[in-house]
Amino acid sequence: MVEQVKTPRDITEPFKELLKAKGVSWEQVERESSRMGVPPIKYIAEVKKLFDYDEIAKEWSRLYGIPYSDRAGWIEQTSTYVRYKDGSVGIWSPYFYRTVKEKFPDAKVYLVPYYFFEIKEDAERAGWFGEFLEIVKSAKKIGVSDIHFEVKKDVAVVVKFRLMGELRQVKEYSLEEYSKMQYAVKNEAKRYTALLDAQEWRIRQDARIEIPDLKLDLRLAFTPSLQDGLQNLVVRLLSKSPLRPKGVEDLESLGYARVDAYRLLSVNTAGSGLVVMSGATGTGKSRTMNTIIGLIPESRNVRTAEDPVEYVLSNAVQHQINVFTKDEKQYVVGYLEYLLAFMRQDPDVIFIGEWRKMKELTEGLIYACETGHLTMTTLHSSRVVNVANLLVSQYGVKQTDLANNLLLLISQRLVKTVCPNCGIRRKIEEKDVDVRTLRFKDKEKLLELVGKEGVFPNPDGCEKCRVYDPFTGKLVSAGYSGRTAIYEYLYATEELRRLLLETTDSLKIEELLLDLSKERERKLKETKKLLSELKEKLSKEEFEREKDSVLKSLSIEIYGKTFVDTAVEKVLAQRVCITDAISKLE
Ligand SMILES: [Zn+2]
Repeated sequence: MVEQVKTPRDITEPFKELLKAKGVSWEQVERESSRMGVPPIKYIAEVKKLFDYDEIAKEWSRLYGIPYSDRAGWIEQTSTYVRYKDGSVGIWSPYFYRTVKEKFPDAKVYLVPYYFFEIKEDAERAGWFGEFLEIVKSAKKIGVSDIHFEVKKDVAVVVKFRLMGELRQVKEYSLEEYSKMQYAVKNEAKRYTALLDAQEWRIRQDARIEIPDLKLDLRLAFTPSLQDGLQNLVVRLLSKSPLRPKGVEDLESLGYARVDAYRLLSVNTAGSGLVVMSGATGTGKSRTMNTIIGLIPESRNVRTAEDPVEYVLSNAVQHQINVFTKDEKQYVVGYLEYLLAFMRQDPDVIFIGEWRKMKELTEGLIYACETGHLTMTTLHSSRVVNVANLLVSQYGVKQTDLANNLLLLISQRLVKTVCPNCGIRRKIEEKDVDVRTLRFKDKEKLLELVGKEGVFPNPDGCEKCRVYDPFTGKLVSAGYSGRTAIYEYLYATEELRRLLLETTDSLKIEELLLDLSKERERKLKETKKLLSELKEKLSKEEFEREKDSVLKSLSIEIYGKTFVDTAVEKVLAQRVCITDAISKLE
């Protein structure tokens, strides 16, 4: 008997035929399924539950005259057909009848349930997400902060790790492999990010994935690449670790000198005022800020709004910036919404994760200061001397408001610390100190380091500092032991307030900062003399206690320190290499 097979005109026709009986329109199924990012057949069977997969295959078998089969045990599988040992072929949609007949003219063709194909799809997806997880795992093991997937058009996709601030290539995938991984990663991310569209590649998309096994929260930023269908991806690894700072030593461990650490912490008891931490991303500013906030006395009501919450604090009520959809409407709970809510919750201290350029947010922050709140925030600015000008010219802050409310400006960058085990100690030479491109008024101080004893990284490293990527076995770092902050800060003195009423010129502010930094140095020198006298008179224990209280009382008499002074201090202490310090000051 000759089979009377009808062949559909296009892939949608069998669906339309199928849906007729249920009175559901294909257009609706198409729209809804693409919105959810699932194949229409899956939507019909699993979401709407109109038919199960067997029923669909049987119904199409009847409509199109292709025999039904649910025989497993095939030897080959593609996304459209399975092929059995005896040469027969199973397809999930009548639409593929013509193409398999062209390919296998003598084969007997069956309609088979779609779940045959789903198994493979899921396994492959799990496989590629598993591959992605392996990369994340190996990155976490060696302390990588970000993983970059960079699409090189028509060539490949390279994977880079950011380790101690620097990018290093560790892996490569073909465009086809990466396309599968990207899809698998996006599908996983959809569980945590309602708005993510796994098919869409032409727009910027942010997403997140939680990996409880690794105690990780991944932040994914997808951007369009030059290759159709593929996106560049940056994955930030957040460990959401609890932060329980105990005292001044926690700021010291980040790289702050004890006397400066005491000075910064002195703001924590201030009734009101504005504290701004500035720096680019990846400068460690949120760690420092969270350490300062973590040391605010328990008796104060602290509210934070962050994006993301990176450190879990025990003394603050923390909030995460959120965007979500509910009943097809999009809701944004951003910094401004939280700030307004906080104002009704009687806080003593407010931390807004980032001062965005928004009129209402700016007004809200100033209003919070003026109504008696210690208000802390961060800003993308490279130096404290530029902050006033930025706030007035770009953010619309009134000079008088700034002069009245400003309490403290801090800025920091991170410099790699040389491995103490294998670092090379030698005299600093002129060629090590190239300050031509630096725009600091006190950069000449760096030249004075020539002839002094410095430390330089050993390019071969040692067993203590060599870092290998556990996934690829490649050496990714050698000669360094971690990173430390170099920083500058400016405390609002009467003089600064008066200056701000007249001008926000960064050169003028830098001059004041230089004076304050010089004054700090002079006072510290005197104190050191006093301390060395005490050291001879007191027992070791008594001396340590005395030293601490001397530095603590000195701290409230100092008002600023420059980046250059911090860098010089660390080079002389042989913690960092002079050329690394200079490259971070640029
Ligand atoms: Zn070493």
